Amino acid sequence: MPGQRDTVVQGDVVDDGERSTLAREWWEVLAAHGFVPGSVDDPQRLLSGLIDDLRIAATADPFDASPGATAGRALVAAGLADQRVPVVSAQVLHRLAGHIRHAEAPGRIAALLTALGQGHEAGTIALRAPDSVAGQRENAQDNRFRIVFDHIAAAIAIGDTEGTLLEANRGLADMIGVPVGELRGISVYDFAHPDDRDHIRTLLYDKLVPARSGTVKLERRLIRADGSVGWMSFAITYVPGVAGNPDYLLAVGADVTDTHRQQEELHRQARHDPMTGLPNRRLLLERIDELVATAGPDDRAGFFFIDIDRFKAINDRYGHSIGDQALTAVATRLRNSVGDHDCLIARIGGDEFGALILPPADTGRLTVIANRLLSALVDPISVNGREMTISASIGAVVTPVPGMNPESLLAAADTSLYYAKTNNKGHWILHTLDAPA
Ligand code: GH3
Ligand code: MG
Repeated sequence: MPGQRDTVVQGDVVDDGERSTLAREWWEVLAAHGFVPGSVDDPQRLLSGLIDDLRIAATADPFDASPGATAGRALVAAGLADQRVPVVSAQVLHRLAGHIRHAEAPGRIAALLTALGQGHEAGTIALRAPDSVAGQRENAQDNRFRIVFDHIAAAIAIGDTEGTLLEANRGLADMIGVPVGELRGISVYDFAHPDDRDHIRTLLYDKLVPARSGTVKLERRLIRADGSVGWMSFAITYVPGVAGNPDYLLAVGADVTDTHRQQEELHRQARHDPMTGLPNRRLLLERIDELVATAGPDDRAGFFFIDIDRFKAINDRYGHSIGDQALTAVATRLRNSVGDHDCLIARIGGDEFGALILPPADTGRLTVIANRLLSALVDPISVNGREMTISASIGAVVTPVPGMNPESLLAAADTSLYYAKTNNKGHWILHTLDAPA
């Protein structure tokens, strides 16, 4: 009997009140359609138990949709064998997603409800005479599942273990931009972005299909019918076939293009300085980390700490707003001056900039780049009709990359900058390090 179990599962607290309300509403909608479980004394208790089973399955890791099929068969066993029971149930049970604290709750509930429909079908087929099974199964797939599929707010596809679509719903058709009738028979690779196909193949055919169980999460690009590129997020579950049917893959997902764009934009904003548009300190440190992670044993890199000379005087004389525009003009000049060199210019903060010179770096190359940076500031900068002469001092280091630490690299260049500033502003000083900074 379902429902006789511990009510606290993986951090998801099953609330008795919510469960009772859902069970009552589920019972009421079934009863309103005239579906009465003939063989059960306490129908609401049965439904409460099934709700528990679905909630537990929705929060389990790894996710497995098969408890949905078990629930479908349990409904048939209880006498709720009418073919409309899964669709009517889905109208209430889709709300379970809102009660579950799991990032994939909507997709998982959709997968469980789809499996519930399949389990229900398998249960009703088992009740029928063997000679009528084939025709009824076909009929059920063409009608009942299409209704379930098309009323769930998710993209759902059932594919064979080779990746050919056997069933797909309107959600997927809308996502790709084709009529739903055109989806059957096409391969998942037909709408996957060409650059993502190898990744998908590896995930499905090297991991999921050989394991013959489990769920994989896929967030990749798709090519829509109109040629535009979007992002889709799918949970793909390997489902062993029931009643002698072949195994299949169940994919439940959503178009996440907007979310993806927002995330990319947030990612970009978090790594750029809004005033100058230059990469900020965070991106600079990440690039240094990447450089260290991918360096060859003999690679050397350079780093410049660039600080504007007497910038306070500019603010004092022209005001902070003109100062901002002057800083932006300086940033543009610095970036343009090194255009064809493999070099990342960042705003570290205030009137400080950094330049990471990627390998190969030696005194000769650093000299060329330092001269370009300093020369870029020779001509006066004009802001709102005011001309100002701005110079900068540069502290530079050249160092082996393997073992280099980003913060130490900036600190070493800051030490060079200190000497450049105290020596004679508008110049640069290079320290060559034998051990990584
Ligand atoms: P030094 O030659 O020693 O570098 O002198 P400095 O006047 O440039 O002094 P310092 O580099 O120590 O200080 C930088 C000044 O830049 C401090 C602050 O008034 C100004 N500053 C920092 N960030 C901003 C900004 O975003 N906009 C403007 N307008 N000024 C800034
Ligand atoms: Mg300064």
